Amino acid sequence: MTEQETRILLSELAASLFARGFSVGSAGNISVRLPDGYLMTPTNSSLGRLDPERLSKLDSDFRHVDGDKPSKEVFMHRAFYRARDDAGAVVHLHSTQATAVSCLPDVELANPIPPLTPYFVMRVGRHMPIIPYYRPGDPAMEPAIHQAAKDARAVLLANHGPVVSGKTLTDAVYAAEEVEEAAKLFLLLRGQSPRLLDDAQVTDLLATFS
Ligand SMILES: [Zn+2]
Repeated sequence: MTEQETRILLSELAASLFARGFSVGSAGNISVRLPDGYLMTPTNSSLGRLDPERLSKLDSDFRHVDGDKPSKEVFMHRAFYRARDDAGAVVHLHSTQATAVSCLPDVELANPIPPLTPYFVMRVGRHMPIIPYYRPGDPAMEPAIHQAAKDARAVLLANHGPVVSGKTLTDAVYAAEEVEEAAKLFLLLRGQSPRLLDDAQVTDLLATFS
């Protein structure tokens, strides 16, 4: 895929997320790895109205080289790319149900959303840990995400929202959508002792689809 095709795809996927309520206002940001750096949604931009020509271009050291100024949350994306060679794109949302789970005091921090369906396991993996709360923009958030991302394709920022990586732009967006659906199921089933996928079933899914 050429850089131009990637710019158009990023803008189309972002508009689709916005249209379906995964993001409101100027919340959320998306980045994708290129052969010579990264594309990133600009600061204060709405995912609903991105201009493919004005996306922020960063070099391989995350220095801004072209387009509008990048999102202030660029360091969340950098944490994933530096921790995971398999991260080709990163999506950060404040999607409602996943953010709701990130605010619950009694969930397991290492794995707040249990394996309810195969799709979460296939798209996100065995677990999605919660990162403790940091003020937006706090530089201490980056090493915390970096550490967790070594072992997880996605993390949930406490009282904030999910950061999700994928091999490709489309994979990362689908995984971010699956995180929101899994959070919705988890909240629907709270207090009802649902039947979970067992360890062998999760291992089988990961061996088959990873
Ligand atoms: Zn955010």
